[in-house]
Amino acid sequence: KVRVRFAPSPTGPLHIGGVRTALFNYLFAKKHGGDFLLRIEDTDQNRFVEGAEEYIMEALNWLNIPYDEGIGKEAGMGPYRQSERKELYREYADALIESGNAYYAFDTPEELDAHRKDHEAKGKTFIYNWHNRLKLKNSLTISSEETEQKIASGEEYVIRFKSPEEETLHLKDIIRGEMQVETNILDDKVLFKSDGMPTYHLANIVDDHLMKITHVIRGEEWLPSLPLHILLYRAFGWEAPEFAHLPLILKPTGNGKLSKRDGDKMGFPVFPLQWKTSDGDVFSGYREDGYLPEAVVNMLAFLGWNPGTEQEIFSLNELVHDFDLERVHKAGAKFDPEKTKWFQNQYFQKLDNEKLAEEFKEFLQKKDISTKDLNIPAIVSLLKERATFVSDLWEQGSFFFEAPKDFDEKAVSKAFKPETPEILQKVMDILGNLDVFSSEKVSEAVKGWITSENIGFGKVMMPLRLALVGEMKGPEVFDIISILGKEESISRIRRAVE
Ligand code: GLU
Repeated sequence: KVRVRFAPSPTGPLHIGGVRTALFNYLFAKKHGGDFLLRIEDTDQNRFVEGAEEYIMEALNWLNIPYDEGIGKEAGMGPYRQSERKELYREYADALIESGNAYYAFDTPEELDAHRKDHEAKGKTFIYNWHNRLKLKNSLTISSEETEQKIASGEEYVIRFKSPEEETLHLKDIIRGEMQVETNILDDKVLFKSDGMPTYHLANIVDDHLMKITHVIRGEEWLPSLPLHILLYRAFGWEAPEFAHLPLILKPTGNGKLSKRDGDKMGFPVFPLQWKTSDGDVFSGYREDGYLPEAVVNMLAFLGWNPGTEQEIFSLNELVHDFDLERVHKAGAKFDPEKTKWFQNQYFQKLDNEKLAEEFKEFLQKKDISTKDLNIPAIVSLLKERATFVSDLWEQGSFFFEAPKDFDEKAVSKAFKPETPEILQKVMDILGNLDVFSSEKVSEAVKGWITSENIGFGKVMMPLRLALVGEMKGPEVFDIISILGKEESISRIRRAVE
């Protein structure tokens, strides 16, 4: 059975790249009838950020890509927070020492620093590897008695992985194909730290194994860790899962990786939800900016994947059906805020008017704007076409709720002629005499009069629109009149004439 996991570290809000990883894991799991796990990788206590874990869970919920297994959804393989599995990792580190795949290292940070500087002075980079480890302070170079003594006396140490020498590794990635790596260039990475915590590498491999993960789908930034991970599986004698490393997400300009700061610099969110830092900085989020989760999911799906057809609009179910790791490309995927708006517009246009009306009412309520007895669904259906967000409905149609206070001067000088007051007076008379105030009836009556008097449409319609709206914008004038109603329409026209 397919089992995949999303394994974020709670070091801050999840950005677009992280959410994309979660989505691809979700899609792959659902496509294959498998499980999608959420595991919180919080072994690095220095980088822990309050609220980040809650943020991650809320973001997945908002996007409608819930996990099957994780915190609050135990399925016998928990705990799902690595800090709560702390005791477990030590025995696995010990097993690697036992089998000769790992060793104790006693070098202090100062000593390592000195080695680094030494190498730099010679124009080389220092790596703790097969070559150097024989000159350093570890259980490979000192006797086992001395090692035991050091440990017993409480000297600080780490446990490092012993990378094999002179071997060519053949690695496989679903997206990137075959790769070769020489083990001689590998670092003997720390598996277990002096603070009693495992590093990411050890905890990640142990947990993926214990949680029976079949496919590891993660960002490209983890590709350099793949050789070590494969070697760890081998050292434990475990079967490794399959790997797929998702392409980087690039800035809209295409040069360089999209960073957390790009959004606010360029005026678009890079986070699913708004995030407030403890210093009071606020990063905007798609949810708070009025995006629909379906639009965000659809946009994310195209960051690195495409269906190979012209189709761009995909519901979550369609994505589950069509998604395929084989169709994920390895070239970086350019993040496009304009395209994101386009997706939003597509989904916005499909919204049901009644439902949209409810949201618009909530929006107005928050702004303390009275909806009087206006027909909100009718207003929504008039404005929707020109809107992408609920807030656009307000921008396009605030005049429905607030009579214009002043008039666009340029338009007034164009539309208001000496005969205008007389014309508008006649329109008021016509409206006043109407019993049925539908858009059709109003249109029929006013247009009938215009034609019979041979006045010219512009002379009537331009000042009329100005009187009702305050500027030359908005939907069909007769639609506006029928929604505003007789009394309000006439009072607005009267005020314009005065
Ligand atoms: N904790 C890692 C992260 O924050 C997980 C990487 C992986 O999926 O292996 O991305």
